[in-house]
Amino acid sequence: MTYPLHPEASHFVNGRYLEDTTGTPLDVIYPATGEVIAHLFEATPAVIEQAITSARAAQKDWAARSGTERGRILRRAADIIRDRNHDLSVLETHDTGKPLQETLVADATSGADALEYYGGLAASLTGDHIPLGDGNWAYTIREALGLCVGIGAWNYPTQIACWKAAPALACGNAMIFKPSETTPLSALKVAEILVEAGLPAGLFNVVQGAGSVGAPLVTDPRVDKVSLTGSVPTGRKVYAAAAAGMKHVTMELGGKSPMVVFDDADLDSAVSGAINGNFYSSGQVCSNGTRVFVQNGIKEAFLARLAERLRGAIIGDPLDQATNFGPMVSAGQLGIVERYIAKGIEEGARLVAGGKRVDRDGFYIEPTVFADVTDDMIIAQEEIFGPVMCVLDFDDEAEALARANDTEFGLAAGVFTADLTRAHRMVQGFEAGTCFINSYNDAPVEMPFGGVKMSGVGRENAKAAIDHYSQLKSVFVRMDACEAAF
Ligand code: NDP
Repeated sequence: MTYPLHPEASHFVNGRYLEDTTGTPLDVIYPATGEVIAHLFEATPAVIEQAITSARAAQKDWAARSGTERGRILRRAADIIRDRNHDLSVLETHDTGKPLQETLVADATSGADALEYYGGLAASLTGDHIPLGDGNWAYTIREALGLCVGIGAWNYPTQIACWKAAPALACGNAMIFKPSETTPLSALKVAEILVEAGLPAGLFNVVQGAGSVGAPLVTDPRVDKVSLTGSVPTGRKVYAAAAAGMKHVTMELGGKSPMVVFDDADLDSAVSGAINGNFYSSGQVCSNGTRVFVQNGIKEAFLARLAERLRGAIIGDPLDQATNFGPMVSAGQLGIVERYIAKGIEEGARLVAGGKRVDRDGFYIEPTVFADVTDDMIIAQEEIFGPVMCVLDFDDEAEALARANDTEFGLAAGVFTADLTRAHRMVQGFEAGTCFINSYNDAPVEMPFGGVKMSGVGRENAKAAIDHYSQLKSVFVRMDACEAAF
């Protein structure tokens, strides 16, 4: 490892770092410079086996402890994360290239929020008492699922690890987490901190590698649940593989979410929403409102204000806290975004901002805005996962809603308007799992997060996630004699 902050070895299994240099080499690249900053190795079958065996061995005892005890450990981990927020944020910036200005407030801190929230909830996870008449009754026992596998995308490596680990562990499960091979570093620190906080060995293991490491985890019969954050094509494959073993799943997948701006909206607020919903994390956010429908009366004013605000973007060294726009995560993702921009130009959309690579090392591309985008264009239909905003015009509410929903995705949707009756009407009509009124992309742990249609199955965060990391055992209790027909 070349940076002192970086984890000690490739994997974290059974409570400690683990190396196996016979695995396929995995170089970690700093997106802001293109330099290799760490050399890891993908998990071999032997590492995967150790992870599964240790997780299974530890899980039953963990589930048998009181929720209060489990919760205390999670809350202690949250405190350690907050104490080390600066160092963890620097690591997250190395992993992803996201500006420190963002990582200081959105990554380790949101991971700590999840650990704190589920730590607080752990003691209150119970079943129900169900009176049935004639003195008979039933009760339910809320049980852990067993061994859960978490598979992460590369945009929020710390947050994704914590959003999966915290509810899983609170409910008494063990977890094996496979980060994206593009951003393998941060989850190792989460594992290290959980053990420091008192988590018994084996309950949160991290194994590195590409999809080829995730796939055998998904199909292993000793795994009870799979939670994936990733693209729709990967989600389809992983869901199908998990279904063959009748496993529980959570699928947090991609989107092409709409943001609808009505004439009466506060202009600056709507522009802020569009900036947050398209350019935070260089546009690499699943719930981004990349189809910005702007009502005709406000369209030119919106575009002018947006262009003016974009001139305030400070693109540069992500470790400089003044920087508010960093590179793409990888050369590959940069290439994808460049191809979509070329496609938008070819399709006849009007490029009103950005569109070019930034003249410096690393994987930088300017925040880009297309206007006059129509629903049939590829850039309006496919998830780009980069800083490319499509602005579409509309005349009335019914049209905006129908076009907003005209997509296979259903992760998020937002509306900006001064008319709150209309805002709630729009939200009722949106085919999306997560909606925003006069805001965009807020994801507090207290609020369920997830998608409908092709954007996913299940919910992360809030009390809703408990149902996806536990199951109910029903018990009928007869108080009188049990009778039979013969
Ligand atoms: P991918 O779908 O390419 O990968 C997601 C994860 O799945 C990676 O760890 C990947 O490994 C792994 N994987 C790939 N194939 C398999 C397989 N057959 N079996 C098991 N695991 C597999 O997504 P990206 O990493 O490119 O992330 C971007 C996508 O994630 C976007 O579509 C985005 O919208 C979505 N996303 C969704 C979020 C949500 O909460 N809804 C949040 C963040 C992102 P590897 O890549 O290392 O090969």
